[in-house]
Amino acid sequence: MQTNVLHWLDNTAKRYPNEMAIIDENYSMTWSQYRKKSLGIAKAIIEMNYGPKRPIVVYLDKSAAVLVSFMGTAYSGNFYSPIDTTMPKARVEKILEILEPGLIITSRNLFSAIKKLDYKGEIIVYEDIRCVDDFGDVLEIQEHILDTDLLYVLFTSGSTGVPKGVCISHGSVIDYIDWVVDTFSISFDDSFGNQAPFYFDNSILDIYSSMKSGAALYLIPRKLFSQPVPLLNYLKEKEISTIFWVPSALIVISKLKALRNVDLTGTLKRILFCGEVMPNKQLNIWRKFLPNVLYANLYGPTEITDACTYYIVDRDFRDDEPLPIGKPMRNTEIMVLDEENKLISDEGKPGELCVRGSCLSKGYYNNKEKTDSAFVQNPINDSYPEKIYRTGDIVQYNEKHELVYMSRKDYQIKHMGHRIELGEIETAVSSLEGVSQCCCLYDEQRCRITLFIDKEIPKEEINQMLMNLIPAYMFPGKVIVMRDMPMNANGKIDRVRLKELL
Ligand code: AMP
Repeated sequence: MQTNVLHWLDNTAKRYPNEMAIIDENYSMTWSQYRKKSLGIAKAIIEMNYGPKRPIVVYLDKSAAVLVSFMGTAYSGNFYSPIDTTMPKARVEKILEILEPGLIITSRNLFSAIKKLDYKGEIIVYEDIRCVDDFGDVLEIQEHILDTDLLYVLFTSGSTGVPKGVCISHGSVIDYIDWVVDTFSISFDDSFGNQAPFYFDNSILDIYSSMKSGAALYLIPRKLFSQPVPLLNYLKEKEISTIFWVPSALIVISKLKALRNVDLTGTLKRILFCGEVMPNKQLNIWRKFLPNVLYANLYGPTEITDACTYYIVDRDFRDDEPLPIGKPMRNTEIMVLDEENKLISDEGKPGELCVRGSCLSKGYYNNKEKTDSAFVQNPINDSYPEKIYRTGDIVQYNEKHELVYMSRKDYQIKHMGHRIELGEIETAVSSLEGVSQCCCLYDEQRCRITLFIDKEIPKEEINQMLMNLIPAYMFPGKVIVMRDMPMNANGKIDRVRLKELL
């Protein structure tokens, strides 16, 4: 039985010691270098008498060094928490206040930034770590890691402005990645093109599927995500077979018709996406140019270890149809609950998506109140303690009994007496000619639906086009044209910034 994720790194380093493991913009390392350097970090941590089971903050710019620091932390019996180095100082301090780490791993160029923080603990400078050959004490610690021990804490934005640290165990990641590698037949012959920042849960799939299978992991330079043709050329040149990106990153390419310029036939085998709605109009462009690729829509919040449902695209969709999020992953149950906590199994009835299984987070770090409100007793089971996670997402079953995402519970509005899912308006608008990205928000003060859209179309014309798609009470009362939609740190449409424009 596998009790920790490090077995993957041990086994892959043994099987493919000299093959490429991680390739970033400036540096590349083999599987044996990856393991050795990680063990070097673990040794330094243990020599400082730090841990086990304590948080270690990784404060590094995106690079192979981040992953080595993650694994070094795990080998030392502790758990990692990455912090975005571009995050404002006040927010970093909020995270440090919650996490109370006694150790931060950083690099020389970021050392002075750490010194400016309200932080008194130890610091390891990545460049100062030496590779050593005697790992006896590290391997001894590894033996004692349980699958219920934490591997990482990822911070997500809380609605109150206080970040929440989602605690994920080794066991949840093992369960998820075993499923990913089996379901998508990932092997050593594959190579991943990583888009997700390492402080965003989508990166879990890239980091650990490559580690389990021995597939090379390319960290795509961030600047390429605003240059569609060079980005596609990069995928071709590096022979990337698998990508797992947020839909917004895929849309940048389909919107600018870059697929006409670079033929990825025979290179890209799988296009997986997760994190926000993928509009079929954009997916249809990808499917037209790359019909033989496997496309899969994964769905899930950080709290259930990246993803809990999936839909492998197996039929044609019109531009104005929603793409299903499908069915639960292995060892996971999805419960759609109505307002009285009764199970919904009928088609076409919306309810909250709740999750049961090993994928569940252990809760929010040092935040009992938020943990207790999101991770609750399974209302269908009153015989023994069993937690489910309430996602706050509204879904319904379609006629094929596939789950379809409708919107966030907080985006469900009452407008002129009608209950409206803003997501439904977005699905309709995103199918209109010329529109690539859009977002709908409700202006409570003016009781008005505001539509943000990346194409200049007068409101009357939009409403005319929407006539056949949604009822008139759902039509936007105001349209704001945004040539470039603001993106948040994870690469999704930034609703918080749009709200400021209402
Ligand atoms: P995060 O915790 O940052 O990964 O965000 C999770 C949230 O993103 C979910 O609760 C959903 O609201 C949204 N989300 C994730 N995947 C999808 C998807 N495939 N389709 C629609 N929304 C999604």
